[in-house]
Amino acid sequence: MKFRHTLISLFLTTVVSFAQSTTKAHHKKVVQETDAIYKRLVDIRRDLHRHPEVSHKEERTAKIVAEYLKELGLEVKTGVGGHGVVGILKGGKKGRKIAWRADMDAVPTEEPDVVDFKSENKGVRHICGHDVHTTIALGIATILSKQKEELKGTAYFIFQPAEEAYTGAKDMIKGGLFEMIKPDEIYGLHIGPEVTGTINYKANELFAYKKSLKAKFRPNTNIKELEAFMNTLMNSYIRTIESSSPWEIINKIGDPKIGITNKETIFKDYFILEGAQLYTEDNGDRSYNADFLETNRKNVDNILEQIKTKIIASKFKDDFISIAYTGGLLTPINDPKLTAIAAKTMNSFYGKERVQPLYGQVPYFSEDFIFYQQKVPGVFFFLGGSNPEKGIISMPHSPNFAVDESTIKYGVQCFSSLLMERVNG
Ligand SMILES: [Zn+2]
Repeated sequence: MKFRHTLISLFLTTVVSFAQSTTKAHHKKVVQETDAIYKRLVDIRRDLHRHPEVSHKEERTAKIVAEYLKELGLEVKTGVGGHGVVGILKGGKKGRKIAWRADMDAVPTEEPDVVDFKSENKGVRHICGHDVHTTIALGIATILSKQKEELKGTAYFIFQPAEEAYTGAKDMIKGGLFEMIKPDEIYGLHIGPEVTGTINYKANELFAYKKSLKAKFRPNTNIKELEAFMNTLMNSYIRTIESSSPWEIINKIGDPKIGITNKETIFKDYFILEGAQLYTEDNGDRSYNADFLETNRKNVDNILEQIKTKIIASKFKDDFISIAYTGGLLTPINDPKLTAIAAKTMNSFYGKERVQPLYGQVPYFSEDFIFYQQKVPGVFFFLGGSNPEKGIISMPHSPNFAVDESTIKYGVQCFSSLLMERVNG
């Protein structure tokens, strides 16, 4: 996730400094009020963790969310694109309309839970932190509700189902989300392996693009020669990161020297070939399939044409049938201007220690937040949840995934402040 100034008159300077001191008072209130609800938020999180629900089955979670939002006095819509819930908090004056999105679903896994408040749904666990995301969003809704008289614009809270299925965002949009709310901007977060409370941001692409490619040839092609030829073509794209096992590569993400928090990161510009194989289809056609990760959108767009040109210039040209992408996953793309504003806003309240830039794109993960960003400019952040001293590592989808719950407090504070600023701006 992803990163100004004008010459102002003396008069404006006076106005600005007054506005900032007013904001600082609001922000102090945000911190105090978050402290006051923290215990309740931890209870909610543990309850959600005990009762995880997989994609499309988030009935109980959605019910708890809707009841909580109603109790806060928000206007609540339920059943949006499945079990989606939307809360609307209207300020009294003229201001921006800002959306915050949290996802609610858990993951099927047989790996045993590592916390005391274990999952009671066999084979399902919150190993992607969506219980924490949901809790933080409820926390932000609480803080903003308590400061309702200070709110100018409108805050929307989107509780999305089925993120793990990569369908929830699309289903909510199809279900009329942007007919019922009209946000100017949208924000959201995902728990990441950084130290608890650390917020990471990045402008533009946050993850690598994931693509599946398929090239088809007529049956008379020599299978061994064709496979060797195609492998050589695909291997020629590999750059920066050697193709080793995914977890080996993922473990380098947090490396202080080559990981994504270092300007010199190896994750800035890479192509990873995930796998490639040639097989014979039922009708005898040869089908070559390759999956890869690529950071650069232009390269993704050009690769098909480049490979096609090389095939046509080879001895396989007469057997060549077609080449196309058969699937893929997108990355969140953070609006550069809003990213810079958000980073500056949170830095000014919480300091640069807590709010840090990323320089690389994370491989192997995806996030359907991009489907909102295709309609509304926004920023998706990472929020660290690890506490190495306590042995807590928040690497999503790893078997021993856990979250230091103090990050709930940090997340609610920072993002409540950010939303207040955006709604009132
Ligand atoms: Zn997730």
